[in-house]
Amino acid sequence: MGDAGRPASPQTVQLGLTVRYFLGLGSNLGRKRDNLSQARRLLKKNGLRLLRTSAEYRSQPVGDRNQPWFINQVLEAESGLEPSALLTLVKRLELKMKRTPGRRRGPRRIDIDILLAGRRIVSTPRLKVPHPRMTGRKFVLVPLCEIAPRALHPVSGKTIRRLLRETNDQSSLHKLRNRRWRN
Ligand code: ADP
Ligand code: MG
Repeated sequence: MGDAGRPASPQTVQLGLTVRYFLGLGSNLGRKRDNLSQARRLLKKNGLRLLRTSAEYRSQPVGDRNQPWFINQVLEAESGLEPSALLTLVKRLELKMKRTPGRRRGPRRIDIDILLAGRRIVSTPRLKVPHPRMTGRKFVLVPLCEIAPRALHPVSGKTIRRLLRETNDQSSLHKLRNRRWRN
């Protein structure tokens, strides 16, 4: 039986339009692991389908060192949102979680960065994808490599595994054991 004339099912249409994202989460204020779990919950509630989650890592702050250590995690998620719409959503969630505005790269309850959006390259004043500061950073590359070592960085064409091998970031990073109730 042929498919001619049959309209695509809603699901087919949806699949064609979804983007495969990698998101970086970070928290260094308050109950950090709870903040990450709240962020995952809010992302799901807002329609993102979480495909894979890395372990959580404790990482030494990079840049402004005079602040608490971070907990970092990377998520792979599928969404029908375009990158700019996803940025609007993550900023709203950061606000909802009362991220304290202030120093860039300073202490925050939650930071949600769009690391990769499939093979797309976005460069607007508001949004840059791939995230420009992801390539040299162990706190991004280590969790990303844990879930997607062969993913490609669409600008350099390098795999995540290779970017991690090539980084000379010396900062400390410790993998944390899973919590049994994590979501
Ligand atoms: P950082 O994550 O570098 O510590 P912020 O989270 O304060 O800094 O982000 C500052 C701005 O960076 C955001 O308001 C957003 O408009 C912009 N931005 C550009 N590209 C991205 C991206 N890929 N993911 C998240 N934010 C981005
Ligand atoms: Mg950010």
